[in-house]
Amino acid sequence: MIETIDLRKEFKHLEVLKGISMKVEKGEVVVIIGPSGSGKSTFLRCLNKLEETDGGEIIFEGKPLVTDKYSINQLRQKMGMVFQQFNLFPHMTVLRNITLAPVKLKKISERDANKIAEDLLAKVGLSDKRNAYPAQLSGGQKQRVAIARALAMSPDVMLFDEPTSALDPEMVGEVLQVMKKLAEDGMTMVVVTHEMGFAREVADKVVFIDDGQIIEEGSPEQVFLSPQNERTKQFLSKVI
Ligand code: ADP
Ligand code: MG
Repeated sequence: MIETIDLRKEFKHLEVLKGISMKVEKGEVVVIIGPSGSGKSTFLRCLNKLEETDGGEIIFEGKPLVTDKYSINQLRQKMGMVFQQFNLFPHMTVLRNITLAPVKLKKISERDANKIAEDLLAKVGLSDKRNAYPAQLSGGQKQRVAIARALAMSPDVMLFDEPTSALDPEMVGEVLQVMKKLAEDGMTMVVVTHEMGFAREVADKVVFIDDGQIIEEGSPEQVFLSPQNERTKQFLSKVI
């Protein structure tokens, strides 16, 4: 579904991605781990064109991304993204947050969009919050709304950038639970997270990135139980 080939990105003269080659198959959950500043967010942002790339290729569903085969809008509709900081529209109700993009970008009727939103709110366990405003929600609830909002566009893949890092510990579980269900339903997911339990349980593949490069990748068992690289071992000894 996604393939990057020797992907490169620099900011000014700082090389942030030094040739990342990665494949994400349909239905696969790929978890990216790595130290702060290693380029994980930049990598995700390149995937959905929030950043321009400086070299290499991204193939999405068989078509190169860097050419004009995809408009930004088409691409963003096919790739849902969830950020650390929820990014909900504060002046809109939960329901409106979810229906806005489908109505505006997909030209779905208000009525159909509301129906989709209600179904998604049920799925993330927030049906009773449909008319609430973001400020009235807990962090965990906000993040579940953000997930529902991304899903409302029926994306082919979901990108998560540290979705639980801004949450109080007691709210992490409810968000991971929603993500786990999504994975079980067959969603293709790329997840940057420090939640090693989630990675072990849900990931098909774990990728360790350090200093803009893939240092090691494999099944959760391979990476967590018998890491081959010294840097992976060091990182894991700090986070587990
Ligand atoms: P991670 O998500 O792994 O913590 P990032 O992808 O956010 O890492 O950042 C990788 C490096 O790129 C860091 O050194 C960061 O300071 C730098 N960086 C990220 N975004 C920008 C930007 N817009 N301008 C300049 N430097 C940036
Ligand atoms: Mg980051």
